[in-house]
Order: sequence, then C-alpha cells, then structure tokens
Amino acid sequence: MKTCTKCGALEIIIEKKHSGQRLCHECFIQGTQEKVLKDIRKYKLVDKGDKVLVALSGGKDSVMVLDILNSLYERNIIDLAAVTIDEGIKGYRHDGVRIAADHANRLGIEHRVVTFEEHFDTTLDDIMALPSQRGACTYCGVFRRWILNRAARDMGASKIATGHNLDDETQAILMNYLEGNIENLTRIGAKSHPHSDKFTVKIKPLREIPEREVALYVVARDLEVHFAGCPYSHDSFRSEIGEFIKHLSKDHPTIMYSTLRGFDKMKPALKKEFSKNFSREASLGECTKCGEPAAHDLCRACVFCKELKEL
Ligand SMILES: [Zn+2]
Ligand SMILES: [Zn+2]
Repeated sequence: MKTCTKCGALEIIIEKKHSGQRLCHECFIQGTQEKVLKDIRKYKLVDKGDKVLVALSGGKDSVMVLDILNSLYERNIIDLAAVTIDEGIKGYRHDGVRIAADHANRLGIEHRVVTFEEHFDTTLDDIMALPSQRGACTYCGVFRRWILNRAARDMGASKIATGHNLDDETQAILMNYLEGNIENLTRIGAKSHPHSDKFTVKIKPLREIPEREVALYVVARDLEVHFAGCPYSHDSFRSEIGEFIKHLSKDHPTIMYSTLRGFDKMKPALKKEFSKNFSREASLGECTKCGEPAAHDLCRACVFCKELKEL
C-alpha cells in the first residue's frame, strides 16, 4: 500500500515523480511551506524589516505567495501589503479583484486596487478595440510594470513579490533561448537587480514550485482563488513551449528543475558577457511626462499612451 513517505499516513494527495516522495495532506502543506521559506532564505529574497508588496491578482500563484509571506508577517519579520491591478477587462477582472480584496481583509493588510484607467486613461478592452499592431500582453506588461513600480513607491514597499512558478520560469528560459533573446535571459532570476534605485527589487518566492503543486496547495489550504484565464492571453509560442515541457516531463520528471539549475549556473557568465548592455539602465533618466525611469524622453508606458491616442 502507498503511504506518506514522511509520516506513514494512509491517504496521500500527491506523488512527486521527480523526488519519489508521496505525501499526505498535512505533510504536503508543511513541506511546501518549508521549501518556499528555505528558498526565501537561500536566495535572500527578503530582509528583516522589508515591506513586501504582493502583486495580488487573486489567481492561485499570487494567493499562495501571500499565504506563505503572511507567516513571516505574523512573526513580525516583514511588513506585508498587496496591490491588485485592474486592466479593465469586462467579465474577467471583477472576480479576481473581489477575491484579492477578501484575502487582504482576512489578513488585515493594506490593499490597493489600481486601474489602467486612472493612470493611462484607457482600459485593455478599449485598447484591443483599436487597430493596433501590438498584442494585448505587450501593452499589459508595460502598463503593469509601470503601475507596480509606482505603487511600490507610493506604498513605501522595499520589495515586490510576484507569483511566477517553476513552469513560468522554465518557459521563459526556453522561449528566450530559442528566440535568441540573450539580453532578456540575463534578467531571469529569483530576484531582480535593478541598476536604478527608482526601480523596486522584485522577488519570485515560488520560482522552484511546479504549477501543479501551486494548484494543489491552494486547494489543500482551502484558499479561494480566481481560476479563469485572461481572455487576451493568446501567447501561442509560450503555450507551445509549455506543452512541450509538460510532454517531456512525463518521461523525464526532473526536466524543469535541471533546466532551471543549468540556467542558474550559466547566468553569471551570460551577465558578464552581456553586461555592457546594462550601462543603458544605469544611465536612466526620468520620463518628462510621468517622472518614472526612462531611457529616452518618455518611458515606454508614455510612448504607448501617445501611440494609442494617435490611432
Ligand atoms: Zn504525512
Ligand atoms: Zn512616462
């Protein structure tokens, strides 16, 4: 009979092919929390006294990050806050915002909802109705980055935590490698190293947790999450890569870990070789319109806003 490899309990909820572990409900929750907290220490993701701002969409990944960081908040190691970005997507974002707000209320932490509309005078729905050359994820990525950075400063946060999991990270590594975007590769990691103090450090506490374990964790912890996918996310190359890795993982259960480990070993060499490209970031000025960091007169968000008005 299959029993929990940690405590011998009869009912197991997961069998981890990559490690041979079988775990019961309690041991899975405890083991997962310990693993994430261990990674937070190992990669020095937070320092005592940090105010960590969770980018809380209400989806499983960010809800799990909030749940685990809350244990550090309860022990007075860090201060905790959350921000939810409302892109303006009808019939989609409302549930996520409600779920995010419920979690923040339950934990008694500061929470803000920031809309594209209040900062950029438009919504993602309106942008997508225009004859634009760029995809939804391009606008969304740039606008979200702008909002997160601004919100972190407004709220006095010293770190921004996002929900990227092991699947997201290995997809990003493979995608950028296959597309030859070596500069982008040098920016992938557990913690960002901004060369400008106008950017807040970003951390990814779930970087070594596979997506299926994130999904199982929120169910095991009985946490309400927003499961719907974004209606505009048609990044077909990313999903092809995701399918490819999933397929490989069936017969090679350690493939995502080895991809990540191999990449982390290579990264210092990549950074060294491509470090000249970082001088650009070091010489960042301020956007003449919004004051955020910018390589040129206008930051990318303001360039996009200007373009959209001309469409
Ligand atoms: Zn057990
Ligand atoms: Zn700007």
